[in-house]
Amino acid sequence: MKLEDRDKTDKNKIDKIGSSSDTEKKNEEYEKVCYMCRRPESVAGPMISMPGGMEICHDCMQKAFDSVMGSGWGNVDLSKLDPSSLDLSKMDGMPPFMLNLPNMGAIPKSQQVKKKKEKKEEPSFDLKDIPAPHQIKAKLDEYVVGQEQAKRVISVAVYNHYKRVFVTERGDRDVVIEKSNILMIGPTGSGKTYLVKTLAKLLDVPLAIADATSLTEAGYIGDDIESVVSKLLAAADNDVERAEHGIIFIDEIDKIAKKKNMNTRDVSGEAVQQELLKLLEGSRVDVPVGGGQKNAMTPLTTVCTDNILFICGGAFPDLDDIIKERLSKRSSIGFGADLKDSFDKDPTLLQKVTNEDLRKFGMIPEFLGRLPVIVTLQGLNKEFLVRILKEPKNAIIRQYEKLLELDEVKLRFDDEALERIAEEALKKETGARALRAILEEYMLDIMYEIPKDSNIGSVTITKAYLDKKGGPLIEMRA
Ligand code: ADP
Repeated sequence: MKLEDRDKTDKNKIDKIGSSSDTEKKNEEYEKVCYMCRRPESVAGPMISMPGGMEICHDCMQKAFDSVMGSGWGNVDLSKLDPSSLDLSKMDGMPPFMLNLPNMGAIPKSQQVKKKKEKKEEPSFDLKDIPAPHQIKAKLDEYVVGQEQAKRVISVAVYNHYKRVFVTERGDRDVVIEKSNILMIGPTGSGKTYLVKTLAKLLDVPLAIADATSLTEAGYIGDDIESVVSKLLAAADNDVERAEHGIIFIDEIDKIAKKKNMNTRDVSGEAVQQELLKLLEGSRVDVPVGGGQKNAMTPLTTVCTDNILFICGGAFPDLDDIIKERLSKRSSIGFGADLKDSFDKDPTLLQKVTNEDLRKFGMIPEFLGRLPVIVTLQGLNKEFLVRILKEPKNAIIRQYEKLLELDEVKLRFDDEALERIAEEALKKETGARALRAILEEYMLDIMYEIPKDSNIGSVTITKAYLDKKGGPLIEMRA
């Protein structure tokens, strides 16, 4: 390419990136925020543009005028002026009363919210846009192995949730459908987070994942409850309307169980459950824009949590003991009495959980009342782990196959080898999470050595190789 041509293409590229009309259009999508009080224009009213990209609301500007009356700017009443005439951005320098503002400049985009679209009478989506429960489940099946009951319950709950959103947006008031927030119980690594992530992806809604352990009562060290909504707003690109149809997943919810025998204030347990109540039920909360904690410098915006789907998940260790105790107490008299031990091997024990058991565990009744759908996930056994290795659409071994396919090498795994990996993962007691780390370790040598020799056509990973009793089976190209 000639030098001039290259210059021209480079210039085109630069024009594309920095095209001022693009930036202007982007700017128009966001609400202006007052540099001084940090309120967005939907709250504070029209803004006065200042040099350096700053915006000041009328209230703050009036205060500034009032405080410097007689300094040459005279007695001005801004409310009597036409807002469109108040563009000072082209002024040479700042008006005298603004000179001491620290850190002058525009508010960063991450702290600006998108403008609300004009309110339409129609709901923002059509009922036809929501996939039916069987379609949701079929999609989940492609990614999540097993957990049939959980997938069914979630598909129905999610479908009902978005129907409820549709009905409330349409203004139907004859029957009020209550929220169907979900409580998900299952051992660590059984796919709780994965299920929610897959769900959000296939519904194309923003998702925020928060950890209940970091939450504390307002005013104490730790994250305030609103921070979870703030995360969702960030996931929705600061688009409040999109965030209001999103999903919030609060993990480790069992860690905020009421602490037993506490003499001090339980700021990270029961108090957090209390504060979550209003979010779960649906309320208007002021959240800091751009993440982080509320403070004087972060703009706030109001998000309504009425149509946000909350899913709380936790491993609830020892919950099975509570269930066992209840079941054996109920049938402990007479010949038909079940012994506590007889439930030990019951894989469906967790499914028998009731609100009473969860209350015993330390969850407060009001909190449980706001999570009407309970989903239980099974712990994963060897057979499940093998299926997780090879069945999902983005199964781990498929990922390795793809990587080697790019070197034109066929990768195969013996069934025995897969079982051997599953057994090793089982020993780590972290569910399916262990699989990747284990496989990564075994595959390192293969991924290093194979590309060295371009004659290799296929590699088969055998149990003997994993046991370090031999090498992988290698076939050369014909
Ligand atoms: P947790 O229940 O602790 O939230 P995760 O959802 O984080 O567990 O699971 C860890 C990983 O294990 C996921 O990223 C996913 O790849 C895998 N996994 C767990 N359960 C399943 C499943 N049923 N089907 C497919 N993959 C799974």
